[in-house]
Amino acid sequence: MSVQNVLNLIKEKGIEWVDFRFVDLSGRAHHISLPAVEVDEATFENGVAFDGSSIPGFKGIEESDMVMLPDTESVYVDPFTAHPTLIVICNIHTPEGERYDRDPRSIAHKAEEYLQSAGVGTTAFFAPESEFFIFDEVRFQSGQNESSYFVDSEEAHWNSNRKEEGGNLGFKVGHKGGYVPVGPTDTQQDIRSEMCRLLQEAGLRIERHHHEVATAGQGEINFRFDTLTKTADNLMKYKYIVQNTARQYGKVATFMPKPLFGDNGSGMHVHQSIFDGDKPLFFEKGGYANLSEMALNYIGGILYHAPALIALTNPSTNSFKRLVPGYEAPVNLVFSKGNRSAAVRIPVAAVTPKGCRIEFRTPDSTANPYLAFAAMLMAGLDGIKKKIDPRALGYGPLDKNIYDLSDAEKGEIRSVPGTLDEALNALEADYEFLTEGGVFTKDFIDNYIGLKRSEAKAVSIRIHPHEYSLYFDL
Ligand code: GLN
Ligand code: MG
Ligand code: MG
Ligand code: MG
Repeated sequence: MSVQNVLNLIKEKGIEWVDFRFVDLSGRAHHISLPAVEVDEATFENGVAFDGSSIPGFKGIEESDMVMLPDTESVYVDPFTAHPTLIVICNIHTPEGERYDRDPRSIAHKAEEYLQSAGVGTTAFFAPESEFFIFDEVRFQSGQNESSYFVDSEEAHWNSNRKEEGGNLGFKVGHKGGYVPVGPTDTQQDIRSEMCRLLQEAGLRIERHHHEVATAGQGEINFRFDTLTKTADNLMKYKYIVQNTARQYGKVATFMPKPLFGDNGSGMHVHQSIFDGDKPLFFEKGGYANLSEMALNYIGGILYHAPALIALTNPSTNSFKRLVPGYEAPVNLVFSKGNRSAAVRIPVAAVTPKGCRIEFRTPDSTANPYLAFAAMLMAGLDGIKKKIDPRALGYGPLDKNIYDLSDAEKGEIRSVPGTLDEALNALEADYEFLTEGGVFTKDFIDNYIGLKRSEAKAVSIRIHPHEYSLYFDL
């Protein structure tokens, strides 16, 4: 959309505020609003200044001036404000006018440019399946043990449904019993439908929504694939709309990977494919799951670099509480058609040549989508460049339920890292595939690792409620 079109839209829709947004390293959105009457061509050309030193992981205090430059392709009307507001996603520039190399969106753009310069194809497509929980809002009283809510799943379950205490529990969803039941068991049909309506108005094409496997309140909404940066923008819209719709219903939505011990967590499986113009490059009839050699090499790159990659696709201490056996989250670094316990699955049901794709199941929604999609593309492209054959390196294919294999059968199968620190160690040792073509800089990676190490440390020095049941009476 041209600047003039955006200015026309502001008039047509009676917009009062224009909301300029950017995304920080962790994937949080930030915004500054300008009165629409003050917004003109010059605003789009010169951008909006902000203080980079107040954003974790951005500039130091001595060089804090940053500029947000709006991307007019990304505009949508905020569905939640009383005053009509137009949201526009921005790129971050330095005062000298350079793209800021710690701006996640800039890294996403660079990854797309790198794909084209690598001569592999023209376009990479991404489609995330971002799961979430909707809980009743619980306001903690001071002195109440907040963490108990998150620790014991049984207790959390009852807490999250306080209104029904003492009522008929016949339609209660048990742990891992929530996959697509109709109402009255599924109580969230209308909330998800309303989320979808608002997402459609914001420009996303919705494919479907449903209740997910975990106990009452886990849901998933699928929207149509798009190119890398556009899909990351869509995911930012998705999270904003899901969380704020929940709030309008007096609920809270969370994308935290494992809020309930003993039940399924929330993943963000990411479907990926590469096209050359109109031509799908991952499809070849007759091969394993109708995959081309290029697709196999892409899988090889993802699995080979997975321990490091996971520092960007699963970047929270909580991420690793989801990556345990028994909850449909992958633990082993293998690929397979159909098998949901593998890290890479190749969907085979109802798949056309154009729909032929790989699904990386490890990621979760605590990932910054710009960084995670860029990093997955870089890992896959490295696999293509080096012709990494996942079959030769012991990454499958393995079409059995991996959770059920004996240790002997598991043999040499590799596992995902067990903690955020382990993943950060892997990234420290294996980052060159990310810095190819200057997509990620070494400075960015070092800074990112520092930020994430401090999160891991902050969690590890705190006293865990479960330590009381283990040690209090000793
Ligand atoms: N919630 C599961 C995960 O953590 C996935 C369940 C599913 O989509 N089949 O990845
Ligand atoms: Mg799904
Ligand atoms: Mg799902
Ligand atoms: Mg999936």
